[in-house]
Amino acid sequence: MSSTQRAAVIYYPGRVDRKKLVAAVEAITLPGGWEPTLWLATSDSETGGPQTLRALAQNATHILVSGGDGTIRGVAEALVISGRTDVTMGIVPSGTGNVLARNLGVELGNVQRAVTAGLTGKKYSVDVGRADLVFANGELDQRFFTGIAGVGLDARIMQNTNPALKRKIGWIAYIEGGIKALPAKFDRLLVSVDGREPRRLKLHSLLVGNAGWLPGNISLMPDARLDDGVLDVAAIGPRRIWNWIDFWSRVTWQNKVMRPLSLGRRWMDSTANLKTIENLCGAHIHVLSEKPVDIQLDGDPLGKIVKVDFNAVPRALSVRV
Ligand SMILES: [Mg+2]
Repeated sequence: MSSTQRAAVIYYPGRVDRKKLVAAVEAITLPGGWEPTLWLATSDSETGGPQTLRALAQNATHILVSGGDGTIRGVAEALVISGRTDVTMGIVPSGTGNVLARNLGVELGNVQRAVTAGLTGKKYSVDVGRADLVFANGELDQRFFTGIAGVGLDARIMQNTNPALKRKIGWIAYIEGGIKALPAKFDRLLVSVDGREPRRLKLHSLLVGNAGWLPGNISLMPDARLDDGVLDVAAIGPRRIWNWIDFWSRVTWQNKVMRPLSLGRRWMDSTANLKTIENLCGAHIHVLSEKPVDIQLDGDPLGKIVKVDFNAVPRALSVRV
C-alpha cells in the first residue's frame, strides 16, 4: 500500500518558503516509503491545471497545493475534469484569499500542520461549481470554481487589477476597496434559479457561492455549505455607494452576531433592504445579460459573457484536511 503512494506538490513559487515546505513533506513521505515527490511550480501561463495533469500522468495519489485561490481553482478544475476522485487535494494556504481553505478549516500560517493534514488527513468529498459560459464574442467554455464566482462589478474590478497587486491585497479585499471608490453603475441581469420564473435584477454584482466564508470572518452567504449540492446566490444592488458600507457591516457583524439567533434573523429579514441583498440558493442558476458583462471565478477574471449557467456538481472533488 505505502509503495503506491506519491505526493505531487503544486506551488506558486513567489510566495512559498520552499525549504519549510520540502521539510514538512519529506517528514511524511520518507518514513512512509512513498514514491519520490513531484515538485511542480506554477507560472503566469500555467496556473495549476497543466501541472495537475502532469502529476496524474506520473501516478500522483496525493496532490498538495501551495498557493492562493487561483492556484487552487486551477488544480481543482483539472482534478474534476479528469474524474479522478481517488486522487486527493490538500491545501497549504499561501495567498490572501483562501476561500476554500478557510471553509475547510485549514490552519493559515502553519505550513507543517497544513502539509500533514493535506497528505494524511481525513478524506472528504466536496461540491464544486461549474460555469457553462457563453462569451460576448460567441465562444463557449466550461470552467469550475471552488469558492465564489461573480458577475458584474466585482469581476470588472478584477479584470482591471494588476495581478501583483491582487495577490498582495487579496482579491476579496480588493473588490471591497475598489467598489467603494467607483461610481455606481448597474448591470441588468435575468436570473432564474432551478428553472423557476426568471427575475429581472438591476445590480452591481451577482455572487454565486459554493463556499461562503470569506477572509476577515465575513460571511457573505451564511447558509453556504461545501457539500449540500446547492449554490448560494447573493444579488447586490444598493441604490447608493454608502449602501456598500452598510452591506459590508451587515455581512460582517450582523451575520456573525444576529444570524444564529432566530430573533436576530427575523430582525435582519424585516429590516433588510431587500433590494440590497437577496439570498437565494439552488443547484442551477441561469443568468442572462442584456449587455456583455464581466465574470470572475475564485478571483480569476475570464472576460465578458452574455450568458452563464452555474451548476453545483455534488461531491466532485476529494480533499484532505
Ligand atoms: Mg453549497
